[in-house]
Amino acid sequence: AQTPVKVTVTGAAGQIGYALLFRIASGHLLGADVPVKLSLLEIPQAVKAAEGTAMELDDCAFPLLSGIEITDDANKAFDGANIALLVGARPRTAGMERGDLLQANGGIFGPQGKAINDHAADDIRVLVVGNPANTNALIAQHSAPDVPAERFTAMTRLDHNRALSQLAAKLQVPVTEIKKMTIWGNHSATQYPDLFHAEVGGKIAAELVDDAWLRDTFIPTVAKRGAAIIEARGASSAASAANAAIDHVFDWVNGTEWTSAAIPSDGSYGVPEGLISSFPVASRNGKWEIIQGLEIDAFSRERIDASVRELEEERTAVRELGLI
Ligand code: NDP
Repeated sequence: AQTPVKVTVTGAAGQIGYALLFRIASGHLLGADVPVKLSLLEIPQAVKAAEGTAMELDDCAFPLLSGIEITDDANKAFDGANIALLVGARPRTAGMERGDLLQANGGIFGPQGKAINDHAADDIRVLVVGNPANTNALIAQHSAPDVPAERFTAMTRLDHNRALSQLAAKLQVPVTEIKKMTIWGNHSATQYPDLFHAEVGGKIAAELVDDAWLRDTFIPTVAKRGAAIIEARGASSAASAANAAIDHVFDWVNGTEWTSAAIPSDGSYGVPEGLISSFPVASRNGKWEIIQGLEIDAFSRERIDASVRELEEERTAVRELGLI
C-alpha cells in the first residue's frame, strides 16, 4: 500500500481547522487515492479541544485516514511532515499595534519554521493561512534555511475564489467560464484582483463590465469580503478559508495552468525579490511558476505597487524586530 502523506495542521482546534480536517481526511487535499496521516498542533490549552475533533474524525471512519496525532510540541508535530498548513496565528485585537502583532506572530512562526527546518520531510510544502499570512510565511521561511525557499507560500486563493464568484454573479455566467483570474500582492485590504487578464468566453473581463463597477464595487467587495462575512455571520469565514487552503495545496501537488498564490518573488513584475507576494501562477511538476509576459497597464501598476509597498513595510518591520 502507498505510504501515507503526513499533513500537519496548526491551530487545529480553531474554526478553520474544524472545517479543514474533515476534507483533508476525506481525500480532497491530495486526491481520492492518497492515504493521509494527520498531525494536529495546538497550544496547550486547546489540545483537549483538538482531541475532541480527533474523536469526530475517528467516527467518520474515513478510508484514507491512516492515523491522527495531537501535540503541543512543534518538533513532534512537524516530524516527517510532507505538507504543513499553518493556520493558528495571533489575531489582531482592538487597539493592538502592528509591531505587537508582528512580534506575537514572530513568536509562533519563527519556532515553527525552525521545527520544520529540523524535522520535516525533504519534500515539505508549507501553506500559511494565519494572518498576516504573507509576512508570517516570510518569518517561517527565514527560520528554515535548509528548506528550499519556494516551499513557503501564503494563501490568496480565497481572494481568488471570491473574485471568481463576484464576477460570475455580475456577468451571470458559471464560474467555470472564467479563466486567468489573478490576485496580486498582499492578502490584505490592499490586494489587487485583476480583471485585465481574466477572460470570460475568450473576452477580457474588464471589457465586459463598466469601469465604475470594476473600480468601486468589484475591487473593494473582493478585498473587504472577510469583514462582510463577519458582519453577516457573527464570525469570520472558516469553511471558505478551509476550502481555499485545500484548493491551493491540491493545485500545487497536482498541477494547474493558472491560479493565484503568494509565493517568493524572483523579481518578476517589479516585485522585490524574496517578498512573498501573490502572483498569477501555474503549477508544474509540483512547483509554482509565475506566469510571465503579462502587460500591466497604469491602473493595475498603481494597485500592484501599493500592495507590494505594504509587503515591503511589513518586511522592514519584522527585520527591525529581528524576526528575519
Ligand atoms: P480561525 O481558525 O478562524 O483562524 C485562524 C487564522 O486564519 C487567523 O489568523 C485568521 O486571521 C486566519 N485567516 C486567514 N484567512 C482567513 C479568512 N479568509 N477568514 C478567516 N480567517 C482567516 O481562528 P480560531 O481563533 O478559531 O482558531 C485559531 C486556533 O489556533 C486556536 O485553536 C488557537 O489555539 C490556535 N493557535 C495555535 C497555535 C499553534 O499551533 N502554535 C498558535 C496560535 C494559535 P484573522 O484573525 O486575521 O482573520
